[in-house]
Amino acid sequence: MSSTLDPNLRRALADRFRYYKELGIYDFYRQSVVANEQDAQPGVARALSPTAVVIREEQNFSATTSLESPLTDAASSLRQIRQDLGDCTRCRLHKQGRKQIVFGVGNPRAELMFIGEAPGADEDQQGEPFVGRAGQLLNNMIKAMGIRREDVYIANIIKCRPPGNRTPERDECETCSPFLMRQIEAIHPRALVALGAVAAKTLLAINAPMTELRGRWYDFRRTKLAVTYHPAFLLRDPRQKKEAWKDLQMVMKELGLQAPAKSPE
Ligand code: URA
Repeated sequence: MSSTLDPNLRRALADRFRYYKELGIYDFYRQSVVANEQDAQPGVARALSPTAVVIREEQNFSATTSLESPLTDAASSLRQIRQDLGDCTRCRLHKQGRKQIVFGVGNPRAELMFIGEAPGADEDQQGEPFVGRAGQLLNNMIKAMGIRREDVYIANIIKCRPPGNRTPERDECETCSPFLMRQIEAIHPRALVALGAVAAKTLLAINAPMTELRGRWYDFRRTKLAVTYHPAFLLRDPRQKKEAWKDLQMVMKELGLQAPAKSPE
């Protein structure tokens, strides 16, 4: 295969990589690409790596205006991100007792996405975020907003359980979060809710107390981000639930959601 690129293609690729860089996506992984165009089957492009998809897209740039392009198909983008993650060994957590990677769960076209800190023991066991006690409370919070857990998408800053549920280290967050950024980009929800200080500070790169971070919207990568207390914190200090409810009401207002009517006692 020739190693020189057509100057227009090179420029288009440079633009595209700049765009991804602005989104915080720095890592690209190469997979073998279908050798020649005639061999390509319909739908094959969806199984290619982002790099390969970009190349194929740019080659067909003038001919392809379809909204069905691989990069706009949230479910296949998420599958691709999971595939790129592989059996990840990028940080120390892979050899510190994790049972499995906890990728994320929910509707790939969710309008609302919750981001927690890290999987705990239950999540590590079941491979799904927020399935333990904190997860039960998160489910109740979601229900109180008049929606179902299956309607939203739920992920964490890091995808592997830290030993003893310790707070994730900064380098672990930095290594893992590019995959979360790609998930956010693929889903492109209307609102993100950062659950707790680790999620808020990692996403916003602001070191401030929760009392200052809550109660307002932030612009975050083509979407809006709100901060609220982590459900595990609310289990320890239930008096703060009414403050968390104020945060969720702000989110509901933005999304045009109505709390379900209370059933008569
Ligand atoms: N706490 C988190 O931050 N994430 C989970 O998935 C579970 C508990």
